[in-house]
Amino acid sequence: MTSRWTERQREMLGAMGVRVFETPHAEVLTPDRPEPVEGQTRADRNTPVPAQPLRQAQGERVVQVAQTRSDIATLDWPALRAAVSECRACALCESRTQTVFGVGHERARLMIVGEAPGENEDRQGEPFVGQAGKLLDNMLRAIGLARDAATPEQGVFICNTLKCRPPRNRNPDPAETARCAPYLDRQIELVQPKLLLAMGRFAAQALLGSDEAIGKLRGRVHERRGVKVIVTYHPAYLLRTLADKARAWDDLCLAASVLELPS
Ligand code: SF4
Repeated sequence: MTSRWTERQREMLGAMGVRVFETPHAEVLTPDRPEPVEGQTRADRNTPVPAQPLRQAQGERVVQVAQTRSDIATLDWPALRAAVSECRACALCESRTQTVFGVGHERARLMIVGEAPGENEDRQGEPFVGQAGKLLDNMLRAIGLARDAATPEQGVFICNTLKCRPPRNRNPDPAETARCAPYLDRQIELVQPKLLLAMGRFAAQALLGSDEAIGKLRGRVHERRGVKVIVTYHPAYLLRTLADKARAWDDLCLAASVLELPS
């Protein structure tokens, strides 16, 4: 069997305590993209794959995904970062410049979850940069928080549902979201936030499993596995739709009240 890990990657992951799967069925985990065929371009191979039949699948695939999920659930921060940076569990690994893990205070009371890295995030390796990032920073500053604050009370941890950029900023594929979910789950477990702020429809779907529109989900406090969740608009959307900025501000005030921030 041909290993999909280089010697250097194996050594690094081993040092980080990351278990490498090399069972005969390991390829079952990464077949999201078809094998290259003669005459096929790289762009062809990067064409978004159809939704993986995760829920319908039987047997080996389900077992293998479960093993990976449970393994990720034991990782500490350094091992989790290493696992994400080397991840090839879905086709997005082919087109990314780098993975975008997340930034901020690792025990922040507020954790912000966006959708997926865009072009700037993919280039810089940090979520919410560019104009949307500036808007988010301004929104946070308005309630006394900052992504680079030194304390859990004033800090925030920011990440995305997907850790790799979908080509041409297309919407995340449900199968990609499912493949990436264990990383987000583990980040939430490690941060242990008091409040999750889901920004955008796909973040809300990932956290709440709901297909409802943002307009229906925002304005109230939800719960996910014992953690409070507030849903609001994505800053990139707010840059295009100024009329919803007032609603986003209301959501932020609701978040501040849940966090019991001084007014
Ligand atoms: S999007 Fe997530 S699951 Fe897919 S390759 Fe990147 S880190 Fe892995």
